[in-house]
Amino acid sequence: MRVNAYAAPAADQPLVLTTVDRREVGPRDVLIQIQYAGICHSDIHTVNGDWGPQPFPVVPGHEIVGVVQEVGRDVVRHQVGDRVGVGCMVNSCRECTNCRNGDEQYCTEGMVPTYAGPDRDGTTTQGGYSTHVVVDADFVLSVPEGIDPASAAPLLCAGITTYAPLRRWGAGPGRKIAVVGLGGLGHMAVQIARALGAEVTVLSQSLKKQEDGLRLGAEHYHATSDPGTFDQLAGTFDLVLNTVSARIDLDVYLGLLAVDGTLVNVGAPADPLDLHVMSLIGGRRSFAGSMIGGIALTQEMLDFCAEHRLGAEVEVIPADRINEAYERVLASDVRYRFVIDTSTLG
Ligand code: NAP
Ligand code: ZN
Ligand code: ZN
Repeated sequence: MRVNAYAAPAADQPLVLTTVDRREVGPRDVLIQIQYAGICHSDIHTVNGDWGPQPFPVVPGHEIVGVVQEVGRDVVRHQVGDRVGVGCMVNSCRECTNCRNGDEQYCTEGMVPTYAGPDRDGTTTQGGYSTHVVVDADFVLSVPEGIDPASAAPLLCAGITTYAPLRRWGAGPGRKIAVVGLGGLGHMAVQIARALGAEVTVLSQSLKKQEDGLRLGAEHYHATSDPGTFDQLAGTFDLVLNTVSARIDLDVYLGLLAVDGTLVNVGAPADPLDLHVMSLIGGRRSFAGSMIGGIALTQEMLDFCAEHRLGAEVEVIPADRINEAYERVLASDVRYRFVIDTSTLG
């Protein structure tokens, strides 16, 4: 099946309208008519080659919401007409320890990423900036009716990437959490941490988005451009969640942790980050990373967001504004996720 899509033809090139071929619907597959696809900063890192060479052309997009149009004969989990979502991965081995533990994203054979990765049939996966996609039913999530579909799309990456560490590192009542960066991931982290009962502080480059941060559920909001912020908040937080897409001075942020606190990095900048081990030793602090989340946890997150009426704040755009949206994301000028209306792909 040949479908319309927006693709980057080469590194650092603007995306253009093109077509991609989707495989025949196999016995375990679901054909999804895509309605919305979020623009994650990871799409931009990929297209720009920040994480190394990528196969081109690439159709980005791993925050996909749509409607099931066809199911393979063995599929019982989803039915034609269901509202569904696809996140950052579309397959894994299912047999390794990590897959069995529900951590398919850490599959020892390598999970199959939704785009720019080798699929099981030897083709290269192509993502959600497209009208349709065919995905193994086990990697297709159910999107609860309660959430607006455009607001739900970013949950498939930004939602799970923040929900997973917030749950793992115990965001909840009596815990103080700082979220660094109020972008796509950050604005979901604030909402989710608040819904889990934690006391949330936003650390943003400026106070420009303070009103939004407080409305989303933060109790405190500080500008990192003000050096006084780091003196005032030193030794305060149980968890600092860094969502920043660029290098930050880790030592300064580690200084914000209480004894036994953890700084979890989900931001994935191109360049290495340095830290001074004394920043960890003096306070028994930890520095950790976390990548998206497993399929069962992603479904739990979607259900949690529906129950708590959480979703992304989105700016819905037609496909011909994708390149402009990329520029605005790079300039931290996004409130708080661009979502492509894929019906504009024709
Ligand atoms: P985003 O919407 O662009 O948000 C990033 C935020 O970081 C910006 O809004 C800005 O917030 C802050 N920021 C940007 N440049 C900065 C700089 N030079 N110094 C300080 N702060 C800066 O991006 P996103 O989609 O949320 O993604 C964030 C990062 O997470 C990306 O690196 C992405 O690849 C990564 N990611 C990782 C995973 C994972 O599984 N670990 C999953 C998805 C995304 P303020 O304006 O508030 O300062
Ligand atoms: Zn993403
Ligand atoms: Zn595996």
